[in-house]
Amino acid sequence: MKICVLPGDGIGPEITAEAVRVLKALDLKFEMEEAPVGGAGYRTKGHPLPEATLKLAKEADAVLFGAVGDFSLDTLPRELRPEQAILGLRKELNLFANFRPAMVYPELVHASTLKPEVVAGLDILIIRELTGDIYFGKPRGIHTLANGEREGFDTMRYSESEIRRVAHVGFQAAMKRNKRLCSVDKANVLDTMQLWREVVTAVGKEYPEVELTHQYVDNAAMQLLKNPKQFDVIVTGNMFGDILSDEASMLTGSIGMLPSASLNEKNFGLYEPIHGSAPDIAGKNIANPLATILSAAMMLRYSFGLGEPADRIEAAVKRVLAKGVRTGDIAESGMKAVGTKEMGDAVLAAL
Ligand code: NAD
Repeated sequence: MKICVLPGDGIGPEITAEAVRVLKALDLKFEMEEAPVGGAGYRTKGHPLPEATLKLAKEADAVLFGAVGDFSLDTLPRELRPEQAILGLRKELNLFANFRPAMVYPELVHASTLKPEVVAGLDILIIRELTGDIYFGKPRGIHTLANGEREGFDTMRYSESEIRRVAHVGFQAAMKRNKRLCSVDKANVLDTMQLWREVVTAVGKEYPEVELTHQYVDNAAMQLLKNPKQFDVIVTGNMFGDILSDEASMLTGSIGMLPSASLNEKNFGLYEPIHGSAPDIAGKNIANPLATILSAAMMLRYSFGLGEPADRIEAAVKRVLAKGVRTGDIAESGMKAVGTKEMGDAVLAAL
């Protein structure tokens, strides 16, 4: 099992170091190799996704990714900015299904801005299509109309096969959980989304055990705040998923706790925390490494089929939280916060 480790920028190196320590402690036969990406890629090799880094990622069985982003490089042309590395990896590795779990740990219920009874016990999974939709559809652009006014336009576009493959991912994920799948679309207004609903419904016939429901995206956005526990798995397109998954992550209130996975058809995956490079706290040993450690657990489960060690990591995180160990971002007022390394130590001890 070969893991390509891409720490990236800001807090990336600190948090991936802790996840790597946890993986090593499992005593499984991993080969791990590190490479620069994002701002680190640009500074050392002149490109946010250097050729050697992409090659290493392609040759590996999974990628563990920290975060990219470096404000001092924001003046570079768009194609050289650190964030382009993620888009490049998604495209090159055909990572079309983005898994974003949002769960609320009992000890962290207070971190949510919603009432405890609304979020306590929340455990939902949003699957967002990642390589199609209005973000990639052509034609797009800004042109000048006959009256001299400028007009911007983008194209929402999904082929049946693109919808079908992500629908299968959604149903299969629901089969492993509580067997409920909610497909989110805007079929009442958009033709693309009418096709989305038809194809998802047809795929659903192959999964008679899964209860399939449909919601319009505006209602789904509302339901996520009103009664988020009604959901088990949500499957949706790229743009709606982008927005809803960020909304769902904030139900938990703790950006430093949430992992994610982006998978292709062969279960090859890129695993990363949902947060960015947090330049404001980089290098201070205060970042929360748990989202990255939990991303490593997702990697074991989804790319390597190693459910047992994945369960062990997740159980260790729960034990650490139950013991009251907290980094600053999840500490209640009056609690003493530990550093990044100390949180890693606590997870290792619990493991
Ligand atoms: P951010 O997620 O990096 O940070 C937002 C806030 O959350 C900051 O106050 C930060 O200190 C805090 N935070 C984030 N992760 C934390 C952690 N593990 N522990 C404790 N606190 C944490 O978002 P931002 O500030 O908007 O963006 C910073 C850079 O990251 C930008 O360059 C942006 O483009 C990039 N970014 C990268 C990714 C990615 O690599 N996938 C995702 C989002 C943003």
